[in-house]
Amino acid sequence: MRIAIIDKDRCQPRKCATECIKYCPKVRSGDETIVLGEDGKAVISEELCVGCGICIKKCPNQAIMIIGLPDKLADQLTHRYGENGFALYGLPGPAQGRVSGLLGQNGIGKTTAVKILSGQMMPNLGNKKTTWEDVFEYFSGSELQEYLRNVAEKKVKTAQKPQYVDLLPKAVKGKVRDLLKKADERGVMDETAAELGLAGLLDRQISELSGGELQRVAIAACAMRDAGFYFFDEVTPYLDIYQRIRCAKLIKRMGEARNVMVVEHDLAILDLLADVVHIGYGEPGGYGVITHPKGVRVGINEYLKGYLPEENIRIRPRPIEFEVKAPKDQKDVVRLLEFGSFSKTLDSFRLDVRGGELRKREVVGVVGQNGIGKTTFARLLAGELAPDSGKLDFNVKISYKPQYIKADMDMGVREYLRSISLQFEGSYFRSEILAPMQIERLMDCSLNDLSGGELQRVAIAACLGRDAQMFILDEPSAHLDVEQRTMTTKVIKRFAENNDVTVCVIDHDIYMIDLLSDRLLVFDGEPGVRGEVHGPFNMREGMNRFLASLDITFRRDEETKRPRVNKADSNLDREQKKIGEYYYLPQAE
Ligand code: ADP
Ligand code: ADP
Ligand code: SF4
Repeated sequence: MRIAIIDKDRCQPRKCATECIKYCPKVRSGDETIVLGEDGKAVISEELCVGCGICIKKCPNQAIMIIGLPDKLADQLTHRYGENGFALYGLPGPAQGRVSGLLGQNGIGKTTAVKILSGQMMPNLGNKKTTWEDVFEYFSGSELQEYLRNVAEKKVKTAQKPQYVDLLPKAVKGKVRDLLKKADERGVMDETAAELGLAGLLDRQISELSGGELQRVAIAACAMRDAGFYFFDEVTPYLDIYQRIRCAKLIKRMGEARNVMVVEHDLAILDLLADVVHIGYGEPGGYGVITHPKGVRVGINEYLKGYLPEENIRIRPRPIEFEVKAPKDQKDVVRLLEFGSFSKTLDSFRLDVRGGELRKREVVGVVGQNGIGKTTFARLLAGELAPDSGKLDFNVKISYKPQYIKADMDMGVREYLRSISLQFEGSYFRSEILAPMQIERLMDCSLNDLSGGELQRVAIAACLGRDAQMFILDEPSAHLDVEQRTMTTKVIKRFAENNDVTVCVIDHDIYMIDLLSDRLLVFDGEPGVRGEVHGPFNMREGMNRFLASLDITFRRDEETKRPRVNKADSNLDREQKKIGEYYYLPQAE
């Protein structure tokens, strides 16, 4: 079976002189394999196409995908966005009394699946003429039949937490209290607000909230609805680990009695909140297959290993591996800068820094709760703020990617990156940054049209492109899928190694911090009141210090060595706390 996908936005026959049609060997031999449709864009006949791939190479706008698929998928087609549109195979089955996770790359059809489950869209089974009756028949014998019947008859009410909480202030005005009151159909506002740490924010205007506060308000608003299907599209962006775990617990508890589905790319958190996961694989923008549910541990492990045994599908050539890293050889250590102790007070917040050194060619993970002074520290290093006591007497150029990125420039990606550095035209940046970060396809797009994940990738590239000796990236993981996080991790590590620079990464995705960091800078104190900076430490010491302050322990999965959060007060949790090993159990090394 073969499908042809045409990206309608990219297909511009007036500009490209229809190269695909000109060179298609089937067209040349007289078949109408590619024609121009009513909308003036190319249409490829999947019946006539022989899959030679010439049109893919000839199209100057990279608008065409021709994908060979196993025949057995043919009778699993759930939805097709029209002729030559994205194809979704399979559908996650929602179930009362459990949290189902959806794990997969961006552009694989997760949102499409949720639109179907929430009744915003009828699955067309790949055919324009499909009716609901056809859909019921198609799903007969599965739990989806009954569910979709209720959806079609509008008997299922759905509640959704949108992906991009940054857009919330544009859609909703007023105080947090008013928003939550309106959403509180179950009469659980006080408990929910307390559980998510929102009690002190109720009288604040929504327009004044930080990203992490907006995220928690949005989660609370969704959770308080009385619905038959709840969907949370990414819960972790902008939240620190402590907040992530609190939200995970709330959602997990909801799932005990309700029907909850979650898309999440922070695997430590997905592991904690989901009972089962459906893996989505395929070709982003081309097709996606949603698997049957797998137990959460097994599903995440299979995903990391890149092979799904039940489906007999390899979804990635290599596994994502966790290893306990040995500290760098002392001869490789070259100092970039040293700082003594200094402090800074901003209104009622005080930051104290103990002093430390940063080295060339290293990646330093920066961990700590929200509001504990990480941004303030970065601004002090960058010379944007001056310390009250002590001094920072080094002259190092710093490039900084902020946590919240906005695209309020009407500029193309290519033009924007060029304005930062002409090196983006060169082969080194192209092969080391643009290609692995999947930015090449975005070069001709406008910054304003990028999705959150695309903008994040461009912002990371832009930060690395500036002329500097030290790079600080604040939450690069936000809105990136697992593949993109892994790729970003590799890009950053190689960038530090090859360019003799230092990269500091502030992030709350523990898997990313683990894979990325050579050493750790640890912030503790009391959020909003005082922060203390310690380190950088080696990973083991740093993680122990950080997790001890949060009172959370991790164990290692036997199969993949990935860290998993221990249940509070479980045997392991107590044992590890007693010996002070919050992260690396001695036997894991
Ligand atoms: P995910 O949520 O996994 O990122 P989506 O379900 O949003 O994936 O999208 C999968 C693909 O479906 C996208 O690449 C897009 O090209 C296509 N798509 C989404 N919505 C539409 C639509 N309304 N019309 C045509 N194609 C669409
Ligand atoms: P983090 O990056 O760890 O989330 P920040 O460094 O942004 O923390 O903030 C630490 C504390 O300092 C917060 O309580 C914040 O409200 C306060 N703060 C940050 N910048 C200013 C400022 N310019 N004026 C007053 N208070 C500030
Ligand atoms: Fe024609 Fe080959 Fe493209 Fe198919 S893959 S449409 S046969 S050029």
